[in-house]
Amino acid sequence: MKTKVDFSKEKITDHLDRIRGLGDACMYFIHGQTKGILVDTAYGVGDLKGYIESFWDKPYDVVITHGHADHANGIDQWDEVYMNHHDKNLLSAKTDIALRRAMLKRSVPDIDDYPDSLFQMGFHGRFHELEDGMVFDLGQCHVQAIYAPGHTQGMMTLLIEEDRIMLFGDACGVFTFLFKPESSSVAVYADALKHLKSYEDRYDRVLRQHGTCESDKSILDENLQVAQEILNGSDDHIPFEYMGEQHWLAKAIDEKTMTRKDGKNGNIVYASHKI
Ligand SMILES: [Zn+2]
Repeated sequence: MKTKVDFSKEKITDHLDRIRGLGDACMYFIHGQTKGILVDTAYGVGDLKGYIESFWDKPYDVVITHGHADHANGIDQWDEVYMNHHDKNLLSAKTDIALRRAMLKRSVPDIDDYPDSLFQMGFHGRFHELEDGMVFDLGQCHVQAIYAPGHTQGMMTLLIEEDRIMLFGDACGVFTFLFKPESSSVAVYADALKHLKSYEDRYDRVLRQHGTCESDKSILDENLQVAQEILNGSDDHIPFEYMGEQHWLAKAIDEKTMTRKDGKNGNIVYASHKI
C-alpha cells in the first residue's frame, strides 16, 4: 500500500509552473510578487496543500476552472475557493471514490495501491464566484478570468496578462467534449469561442490540462470552424463511443494517431440532442 502521493512541478515561465500529481490532468501555479493562484486540484488524491506550501509561503487563492472530477476534487483541503456557480452541483456529484478510481485507472494502473484515506472528500468550505472579467492582481502579474461555457456550463479560462498565456483548461482542445449532461449546446459553445476570440491579440501561447497540455493558437479558430460545421450540418459526423455511450465526432480522425485526417487539430465530440 502507498502512504502518500508524489507531486512535481515544471517551470513554464517566470510566473507559471505546471503541477502534476496522480492522473492525467495537470494543475498550474501562477505566482506574482505578492500572491499566487493554484489552478485546479485534479482528482483530489494526496496532500496537494502541503505540497504547494512546501514551496510557496505567500498568500494564494485556489481557482477551479470547472467542476469535473479530474479538476476539482481536492478542494476540501481549503476553506475558500473560486469557481463559477454553474458547476457547483456538478462538483458534489463527482466526489465518489469508486468513480475517481475508475477514471484514474486509465493513467494510474496501480491506483488500487492507494488507500481511500488518501482521497480528499466533499467540500465543506465557501465558494467565491468566479465570473467573466474578474482580474486577480498577484503583484506585477495579472490574471483575468474569462467565461467560456461549452465543456461545462461553468467553464472558465484564465489569461495571464504579462506572460501573454491563455489557460484554456478543457474549454477548447483537440477533443473538446460537449456531449455530457452538464455541457452547453454547440450553439452556446460557438458564441463562447467568439467571446474568447476577442482576447486573441492578448496571448501567444495556449495551455491546456490533458495530453500535450499545449496547443497552437489556431486551436481556437479550428474549434470555432468545427462548431459552425456541426451547426450547419456539414461536419463529418463520425460515430464515437465513449465509456459505453454513443456520441458523434465532428471531424474524421486517423484511428492510429487519433489526429484529424486533414492535418488540423481542433475537434469536437457532441450529442445529437445538444446542437
Ligand atoms: Zn472537464
